Amino acid sequence: MIKDISNLQTKLQTLLTTQKSLYTQGRVADYIPALAEVSAEKMGVCVTTIDGKTAGAGDYQVPFSIQSISKVFGLVMAMNRIGDDLWQRVNMEPSGQPFNSIIQLEWEKGIPRNPVINAGALLVADVLTSHFSASKLAFLSFMRTLAHDEAIYIDNYVYQSELAHGNRNAALAYLMKSFDNIESEIPDVLSHYFTQCSIAMSCEQLANSLLFLANKGIDPVTNQAICTPRDAHRVNAILSTSGMYDQSGQFAFSIGLPAKSGVGGGVIAIVPNYGVICTWSPPLNSFGNSVIGTNLVASLAEELGLSIYH
Ligand code: GLU
Repeated sequence: MIKDISNLQTKLQTLLTTQKSLYTQGRVADYIPALAEVSAEKMGVCVTTIDGKTAGAGDYQVPFSIQSISKVFGLVMAMNRIGDDLWQRVNMEPSGQPFNSIIQLEWEKGIPRNPVINAGALLVADVLTSHFSASKLAFLSFMRTLAHDEAIYIDNYVYQSELAHGNRNAALAYLMKSFDNIESEIPDVLSHYFTQCSIAMSCEQLANSLLFLANKGIDPVTNQAICTPRDAHRVNAILSTSGMYDQSGQFAFSIGLPAKSGVGGGVIAIVPNYGVICTWSPPLNSFGNSVIGTNLVASLAEELGLSIYH
């Protein structure tokens, strides 16, 4: 493992330089129109460690739309709030389907395959909406606490864009409600879900906020328990099997880290007992994962021997 963070800084810079021209290999998401307005050439990478070190390169301090990376935090909040009851309503299996697929949900009677596909995240959003009096505020405040940064904000422009183009998510939520697996009113669930997806954070803020998952549930800065060691294990397990959309198998096979990506171009990877990698580059591959972001995590994992399966 990397001991000298100054060497790491140079390594990150070199890696970005080698990837710089590859942004043309992917497509910036445009099904949420606000996301399509972000420059395809933005690119950042940050590594934070549980012993308090940070190395970053490129646009690693520029906020971007965290999108599905928010599903990780929602899951932790829901686990903390309702405990094992959550697993009566959502499964923990890979889906083998695109992230916003509706087909499987009907076959499986409104029980989503896992909490990090859209159906599962909407289910989690329902848990939060029905168990917090102000769930959006609670979510934002959780993010600020984890990142130790009160500047984290909800990007209202992205929120409005998602709301105006959220028919598929609405369909998933209504289908689950028809199976009695959603308690709150659908507009409230969608509003919560789009709000958490619209949070803007930088690679550095995201990497800091996820250190507890690399540290058995404990925030290494404050020594506070964010979740139990068992739940940290469970979240990492779900991220290993399902976090990279329908490319999760290949990601585990070739890289071997619990990870989550979002259609805003962010990728986070947890390195247990060490730290967190976060990358950002908007152009996505056909699975919805950032092309450059995935390459950067792959190079770091390979060169530094980070795979959890070694
Ligand atoms: N807000 C996005 C959606 O629901 C998140 C998708 C993603 O990042 O995977 O479609």
